[in-house]
Amino acid sequence: MTPDFDVAVIGGGPAGSTVASYLAKAGLSVAVFEAENFPREHVGESLVTATTPVLLEIGAMPAIEAAGFPKKYGAAWTSGETRDINPMGYNLGPRNFGTAEIRFQERDQPGVDRDFTYHVDRGKFDLILLKHAESLGAAVFQGVRVGKVDFDGEYPVLHARIGGGRTEVTAKMVVDASGRRTVLGNQLKVKVNDPVFNQYAIHTWFENFDRQALNPEKGQGDFIFIHFLPITDTWVWQIPITDTITSVGVVTQKKRFQEVAGNREDFFWDTVASRPELLDALKRADQVKPFKTEGDYSYGMTRITGDNFVLIGDAARFVDPIFSSGVSVALNSARIAAADIIAAHAADDFGKARFATYERKLRRAVNNWYEFISVYYRLNILFTAFVQDPRYRLDVLKMLQGDVYDDEEPKALAAMREVVTAVENDETHLWRPFLGELSAPTAKAGF
Ligand SMILES: Cc1cc2nc3c(=O)[nH]c(=O)nc-3n(C[C@H](O)[C@H](O)[C@H](O)COP(=O)(O)OP(=O)(O)OC[C@H]3O[C@@H](n4cnc5c(N)ncnc54)[C@H](O)[C@@H]3O)c2cc1C
Repeated sequence: MTPDFDVAVIGGGPAGSTVASYLAKAGLSVAVFEAENFPREHVGESLVTATTPVLLEIGAMPAIEAAGFPKKYGAAWTSGETRDINPMGYNLGPRNFGTAEIRFQERDQPGVDRDFTYHVDRGKFDLILLKHAESLGAAVFQGVRVGKVDFDGEYPVLHARIGGGRTEVTAKMVVDASGRRTVLGNQLKVKVNDPVFNQYAIHTWFENFDRQALNPEKGQGDFIFIHFLPITDTWVWQIPITDTITSVGVVTQKKRFQEVAGNREDFFWDTVASRPELLDALKRADQVKPFKTEGDYSYGMTRITGDNFVLIGDAARFVDPIFSSGVSVALNSARIAAADIIAAHAADDFGKARFATYERKLRRAVNNWYEFISVYYRLNILFTAFVQDPRYRLDVLKMLQGDVYDDEEPKALAAMREVVTAVENDETHLWRPFLGELSAPTAKAGF
């Protein structure tokens, strides 16, 4: 029997359309099955520069440039904290402790030919990438939801629903890019919820929000802002979407949301009220979309490859979005997986061993993110200290650029872990009051 396609991709988000672009460019027959009809809304609007080499390589960059998304030159962090606590010898000066900023231009990044990336309206961005895959020869089917994949026969069989009907499709291999729906992760029962991070987000868009309102230094209106709130493990993102629209989201521990009576809108406003200047600025702006919530995030998979399948993007793993890592992981996981799939196709062998390079590289990269996020949540003033420390600044920036795929662990991570351990072991440490509640067994993530 001849299968319908060489490769069937479940999901047409950034991971699915990017892998389809690479495979179609290499001459494989590839089909993308996307449950929704695009454009559809999606959270995850701020990119990092590690997306640039992939967008250039698949040839999608001209369309992205033409879309007029706001350029993102850097990132900034603010806090209402004014104490100057500096016991580690870091040269911070007499300034607000929780503030920091980085600019991408400070560090050259391999394969990146510009000092900015973009903030994107994901409805538009994801549509551009999906259309791009189609233009390269991928068959794209929207409104088709894949239910399960049968791996028992000669070739995998995808069972899908189109409107009220059903259909079956065969392919030599399957790429699960279904995002946090994790189609194969659930089917194969390989999904493991993160033992530590159970965060929850509530977000919306505002028109005419003053992006400089919490920014003492000015001139960074095109940055992503992370505003720390004086509530443990709680922060707010501020992401430019257009000249006048700004995405704002609160991220907190899910249990906090569950403990608070009232509806989610009250929860949003009560939480931002802990930074009165943020509340004031938001009250002066107009909310232009209903609130949306995202829960149950942070998980891994005990397996992300197998005979005739790989998992990529959020379908493979999800870590907290504090450093805007998600879309870059989606694009780079697609890039690395595509190289193994193309080689497997050439050898006409789609056995698990063919995807070992992908599995090793992706796990190492996302573990770096995970470690970084874990240290951040455990002691977030340490993060701003390291960003401002000349010994570690470029190493931290490298992670913030998403440049985590080719090397071993960045040296700043080991140094950060040492400081966290010192603070944990010393009850009198000046930073002790700043320890967060989320204590991850960082080096031992179980997946
Ligand atoms: C609160 C929050 C904030 C975030 N902020 C950022 C950020 O600032 N920057 C960043 O880079 N990332 C961010 N992310 C992460 C980002 O949203 C994801 O990492 C990114 O969208 C992953 O892309 P993907 O292609 O793997 O999955 P998705 O973009 O989710 O795409 C998956 C696609 O699969 C389709 N699908 C699902 N099930 C099926 C099925 N059964 N059959 C067919 N199709 C199916 C879906 O409709 C969807 O279109 C954030 C995430 C959260 C939760």
